[in-house]
Amino acid sequence: MQLKVGGITPFSATDYPGKLAAVVFVQGCPWRCGYCHNPHLQSRTEDSPMAWADVLALLRRRVGLIDAVVFSGGEPTMDPALQDAIREVRALGYGIGLHTAGMYPRRLAEVLPWVDWVGMDIKATPQSYDTVTRVAYSARAPWTSAELVLASGVAHEFRTTVHPSLHTPTDLVALAHTLRAMGVQNFVLQAFRGVGCLDDGLRATTVAAYPDDAVVAQVAALFDRFTLRRE
Ligand code: SF4
Repeated sequence: MQLKVGGITPFSATDYPGKLAAVVFVQGCPWRCGYCHNPHLQSRTEDSPMAWADVLALLRRRVGLIDAVVFSGGEPTMDPALQDAIREVRALGYGIGLHTAGMYPRRLAEVLPWVDWVGMDIKATPQSYDTVTRVAYSARAPWTSAELVLASGVAHEFRTTVHPSLHTPTDLVALAHTLRAMGVQNFVLQAFRGVGCLDDGLRATTVAAYPDDAVVAQVAALFDRFTLRRE
């Protein structure tokens, strides 16, 4: 069984804080978020666009040029070959980053011992999850995964992509309080970006300065480390 890879970015300075990394985009995601930047990765195809052997060969050639490899997607924990792939990449000497939305907590628990940093995507308050993911009963697994990440001791950031049609200011502040109460100390608010998004409605209703400074200040005050990403 080989990891199904939809594509790779050989050099990135923005996907693993403080590291120069390659990003491996794994095929497949069970959710259908309207703001998804990579909708072409949501389906798993029988023959993936890149053979895992070719990805590994590329990473072998990059040893010494980059610090880490980030497994992103799609949703990397959807792939049963993830742990083997991570261990092969780790054996080359790379640090391992993982981007996950946490819908497969069991597989996340299996791979966490081999991961150095997690970007944990939290979509919304539990009550609003399905509105963002467009899939019923989507809220339960990611909160379990969030607890796993916090308990693991693996370096991480929690992040939420915000759009005025999906998150009211009250929702955002409530979400921040929920995360803080769980023990999250490093939180990132990512303003919606239209790049790659196929949803005309979301693109049409973007508000440039959302969330506003007052909401950002309320959220920021709850965390030891807080970042607002508008790009
Ligand atoms: S969870 Fe991520 S990859 Fe899946 S649909 Fe949502 S934004 Fe796209």
